[in-house]
Amino acid sequence: MKEYKTALVTGASRGIGKAIALKLAEQVGTLFIVCSRSIDSLKDAADEIRTKTKVIPLICDVSDSAAVTQLFDMIDRETNGYGLDILVNNAGISCTKLLSDTRDKDWRRVIDTNLSSVFYCCRAAQGAMIRRQSGRILNVSSMWGQVGASMEVAYSASKGGVDAFTKSLAKELAPSNIQVNALSPGVTDTEMNDHLTDEEKAALAEEIPSGRFADTEEAAGMAVGILTAPDYLTGQIIRMDGGMI
Ligand code: NAD
Repeated sequence: MKEYKTALVTGASRGIGKAIALKLAEQVGTLFIVCSRSIDSLKDAADEIRTKTKVIPLICDVSDSAAVTQLFDMIDRETNGYGLDILVNNAGISCTKLLSDTRDKDWRRVIDTNLSSVFYCCRAAQGAMIRRQSGRILNVSSMWGQVGASMEVAYSASKGGVDAFTKSLAKELAPSNIQVNALSPGVTDTEMNDHLTDEEKAALAEEIPSGRFADTEEAAGMAVGILTAPDYLTGQIIRMDGGMI
């Protein structure tokens, strides 16, 4: 018997989201996994997860409010109105540009994908959680949301927004026994960092006291640890950055 009936992980076709989904599968009866486009990678992830639990892979651009409404209609139907026990807002994109080169559409894409998506998904998920007086929400933020990164103003602003959103919503939902926290990873070894050359990666690793990037297993372990922590843990931004900050 699994501990939780249902969970959704966004951005689960690869990287941190896929690792979280794989780890959560051990404790969740039905797992919804979502990404925006990469249906083949999502199906591959689903094949791995299926060895552990029931999985439903769905394409959804979580930066699109209407698409998120459709996604939650589908979750409602699939769960006979039960909704989600666990929501993991992990989908995100980076944008490495000087502010002077950042166009309106870059700004909107990053804010919509990294921050508005969290708003759309939390708003859609909370009704069923409030009805059941139980639920867990984990937002995947970034250490740059706390300290800011040069040439990543839009990204840092979006993650700072996720942190503030998390703290506010935690206060709103704590009386309904719904915990809302954020995992704020440091540099993690995923395709998101593939724009860096090997030399740039080595230089960045040297700046990290632990001397290396985190791996996705570590991020997933921390995510599931937060999701299964005592109910009194809420409104926290939990940074795991190899001692960088
Ligand atoms: P990744 O690029 O490997 O994977 C991102 C996932 O998000 C993919 O599955 C992609 O399809 C999905 N996605 C992107 N836009 C989407 C959209 N509009 N709708 C639905 N899905 C969408 O990235 P990652 O490194 O695994 O990052 C996961 C999360 O962790 C992100 O929120 C990222 O900001 C955060 N993070 C990453 C690092 C890092 O160094 N890799 C550090 C701190 C925080």
